[in-house]
Amino acid sequence: MATIEQQDIWIKGNEGAPCEGVFSSTAYDRHDRLARAAKAWGISWALSALSLITFIPIVHVLAAVGFFIAGPVTAYSRYRTLSTANNATGTCPTCQQAITIAVQAADKLPLWTYCPSCSAPIHLFSKSREV
Ligand SMILES: [Zn+2]
Repeated sequence: MATIEQQDIWIKGNEGAPCEGVFSSTAYDRHDRLARAAKAWGISWALSALSLITFIPIVHVLAAVGFFIAGPVTAYSRYRTLSTANNATGTCPTCQQAITIAVQAADKLPLWTYCPSCSAPIHLFSKSREV
């Protein structure tokens, strides 16, 4: 079963003391990873089959072969993904506003981004690391 994990982090700007925050991610167990891989593989091969019924010659050949090859490749990538990042919340050290930072699923700590409120550069890192 997929579980939401929350990790305490520091949010540091160019100036001022770092502020506390929380980095949220979803962790997948073996069963979830197999299900995610099977879903990606199935969708890719369904698109490959769907490409076979198009009547545009280039799309017919390239898309069918491309999706067919992409199936096991994306499935393997999905299976190897142990967790995906959700978001980070905390207080911006520059503007002192409560912020929620949207992150990409593949993002890991440490992470350099910008405050969504004041656009100041901020650095997110685990509290286990020294400031
Ligand atoms: Zn800010």
